[in-house]
Amino acid sequence: MRILITGAAGFLGSHLCDHLLNDGHEIIGMDNFITGSPDNIAHLADNEKFSFYKRDVSNYIFVPGNVDAILHFASPASPNPQSKSGYFNLPIQTMKAGALGTHNCLGVARSHNSKFLLASTSEIYGDPEVHPQAETYPGNVDPVGTRAVYDEAKRFAESLTMAYHRFHNVNTSIVRIFNTYGPRMDLEDGRALPNLLKQALLGQPLTVYGDGSQTRSFCFVDDLVDGIIKLLYSKEHFPVNIGNPVEMTILQFAEAINRITENKAGITFVDARSARDPQRRRPDITRAKTILDWEPRVDLEEGIRRTIPFFKQKLGLA
Ligand code: UDP
Repeated sequence: MRILITGAAGFLGSHLCDHLLNDGHEIIGMDNFITGSPDNIAHLADNEKFSFYKRDVSNYIFVPGNVDAILHFASPASPNPQSKSGYFNLPIQTMKAGALGTHNCLGVARSHNSKFLLASTSEIYGDPEVHPQAETYPGNVDPVGTRAVYDEAKRFAESLTMAYHRFHNVNTSIVRIFNTYGPRMDLEDGRALPNLLKQALLGQPLTVYGDGSQTRSFCFVDDLVDGIIKLLYSKEHFPVNIGNPVEMTILQFAEAINRITENKAGITFVDARSARDPQRRRPDITRAKTILDWEPRVDLEEGIRRTIPFFKQKLGLA
């Protein structure tokens, strides 16, 4: 297939490029680098099956030649107010990437008769009142809350995707991505794994926000990409959760990082995150298991060990 990936220079986009090139596909990457990095795709520069366009998908996009599939992964995604690349500090761009960007990509998909896969998110469940979150749960999102620019843009993107499927018969899929980590994460994006692993490798205390009793479930990037590619090849049109169902508190997560890195500096509790930090999050992956025959294989310890070399290299410790 000839596949367009938006957000190709991002954390997930760049891994998708690698895996799909490995599967023998031709990739057209697109990114405007507001959160992605040229470093993430530098190794593909000489690959004749990879081409790249620096574009903002919120504007009209033109892709020469045929396009068999489009994966729309362009968007800021970090919820951290301290991060320059987080959606708090890029609120309008975030809404435009989710709304106008999705519309433009669906337009390309319709005109080329391509498969369209939308990167959606567990954030569409907001601060969930049911646990774990199955795809049937409609969510608990405040449209004017601090996370709304991302959550509502992705919710709109899902609705628009289903509209193009139902009304224009475009072959669409929607993946709801839960917390993911691995090499090529932005060390400065303020999320739990980059912050804590960076602190641990520098021998600093780990900053746990609040009392650390809030839970998350962390999926290693290779597992996630494997699930997304299975969804791409499937005929499933309704949203599918992809994530790791092993839930832990953020305090347990921090303790695991200190143990694996042998960091002796301990943990410090800080009051850094604003309201609306979801208290519990865990994917119900029954649909992914049944429809895609997918479940994660890499446990937290192995995933962190596979992430450390990248972090050491970025920190100048390698
Ligand atoms: N968190 C933390 N310390 C940090 C960064 C994040 O305790 O240095 C917590 C944060 O409050 C949240 C969880 O880790 O409860 C996951 O945060 P992240 O930013 O990775 O993404 P989220 O799951 O909130 O979208």
